[in-house]
Amino acid sequence: MIEDKKVVLAGGGLVGSLLALLLGKAGYEVDVYEKRPDPLMTAPEKGRSINLALSHRGIRALKAAGVEQEMMNIAIPMKGRYIHHEDGSNSFQPYGDEGQVIYAVSRADLNKTLLNKAREAHNVNLFFNERCVKVNIEEFNIEFENKQDGTIKNKEFSVLFGADGAFSQVRSALLPTSRFNYSQEYLEYGYKELTIPSDSGVHRMEKNALHIWPREKFMLIALPNLDGTFTATLFLPFEGENSFASLKTDSQVEAFFKKYFADAADLIPELNKQFAEHPTSALVTVKCYPWVYENRIALIGDAAHAIVPFYGQGMNAGFEDCRVLYDLITKNGSLKASLQEYQGLRKPAGDAVGQLALQNFIEMRDLVGDKKFLLRKKIEAKIHHKIPGYLPLYSMVTFSDLPYHEALDKGKKQDRLMEEIMKIEDVEALTEKREVWEKIEELVERGLGR
Ligand SMILES: Cc1cc2nc3c(=O)[nH]c(=O)nc-3n(C[C@H](O)[C@H](O)[C@H](O)COP(=O)(O)OP(=O)(O)OC[C@H]3O[C@@H](n4cnc5c(N)ncnc54)[C@H](O)[C@@H]3O)c2cc1C
Repeated sequence: MIEDKKVVLAGGGLVGSLLALLLGKAGYEVDVYEKRPDPLMTAPEKGRSINLALSHRGIRALKAAGVEQEMMNIAIPMKGRYIHHEDGSNSFQPYGDEGQVIYAVSRADLNKTLLNKAREAHNVNLFFNERCVKVNIEEFNIEFENKQDGTIKNKEFSVLFGADGAFSQVRSALLPTSRFNYSQEYLEYGYKELTIPSDSGVHRMEKNALHIWPREKFMLIALPNLDGTFTATLFLPFEGENSFASLKTDSQVEAFFKKYFADAADLIPELNKQFAEHPTSALVTVKCYPWVYENRIALIGDAAHAIVPFYGQGMNAGFEDCRVLYDLITKNGSLKASLQEYQGLRKPAGDAVGQLALQNFIEMRDLVGDKKFLLRKKIEAKIHHKIPGYLPLYSMVTFSDLPYHEALDKGKKQDRLMEEIMKIEDVEALTEKREVWEKIEELVERGLGR
């Protein structure tokens, strides 16, 4: 019989490496099997998002693992959205209150930081080039194939976590089990990453912001990197008028960028080369349930809930899974005794953040450039500052610990309230006309049930 404290993790990506640290801290013996080579020995792989937005939920989990300072050393604060309008003008929208920021971090650096910290832990063992090929759910053992020499390893486990991402092999093993629900849905949009080079190590646009070029049906965004470059990501439909399918030749790519993203195009001298060489990737939402099998096998992070990237929350949600599980272990004194509670708490959160992410695509690509929407945001900000108990949805998701599903529900109620407020005559005069503000106050107080 295998020792009860022995935990195996399939996948040592962002979530797997953080989970390893937290389980190690909780006193478990953790073996992490990762299919990629050791990142200390190799250059980062191409084709996956190069940098990500890290926010409160993720940071709280990193703090729990004791890696907050290391993370801060590799993070760039972003204070808000820097909007590049189609007419060439720019505007800035802060994300939250003064001092509230999100951070741009390199996926590779963050993963390396977490793995290095895990290396230091006496009870965490890392194995690279080991691909999980099979999980035997009756015998509770797992098979790994070494990518270098083809050898097969068979490991028994007390508990196994599938932290192996959106196309999880561990999840595949659960598919035939009784009443296992599974869905995967692709967006009609894909994405391509492009690098905006630095000017001798200096950022060529505002460094402390997330840049957005909203163009209604598609958009470009860019996040800063520590070396002075930006990683820009083009989100575009696969098919149709302005689509990846319609951008086949250099001149088509150039004309498209000149028309829609002229200032960005000027900053990417090798646009055609990059466009041709960088992959076009798809975006998927994965839902499944249950996440826990016989209290011995559990899914976490993207393996449990892969979402589209438009709220910048996929990794943050996965990190929060780890933090919540760690808190439960601390409370219950046992991992196995915490797994049911873990999935009970995290499944509704995973579904909600998936929905929020899909919703936010419309806000990012279309509404952030819309005057009425901006007025609404301005009114919301004033309500938030003047009336206690009102927090905009973005702040609930990004700067609070409120479970995602509660944020989603509250957000829907606030949305209806804002629709009423926007119907007030002369609402745009909210700062000049006292009666307008009084009407808003009355509606908000009523909406908050007071
Ligand atoms: C374009 C884009 C932008 C994004 N931006 C953000 C953002 O700004 N903020 C944010 O919070 N999230 C963002 N995300 C989401 C984020 O990338 C994911 O939620 C996060 O990477 C999930 O971490 P994970 O460890 O669960 O999965 P992954 O990061 O996919 O890690 C899984 C790991 O398992 C390994 N693995 C896979 N299969 C096997 C196997 N069979 N055996 C062994 N190992 C295996 C993989 O090599 C990998 O290392 C973005 C995603 C995309 C696509």
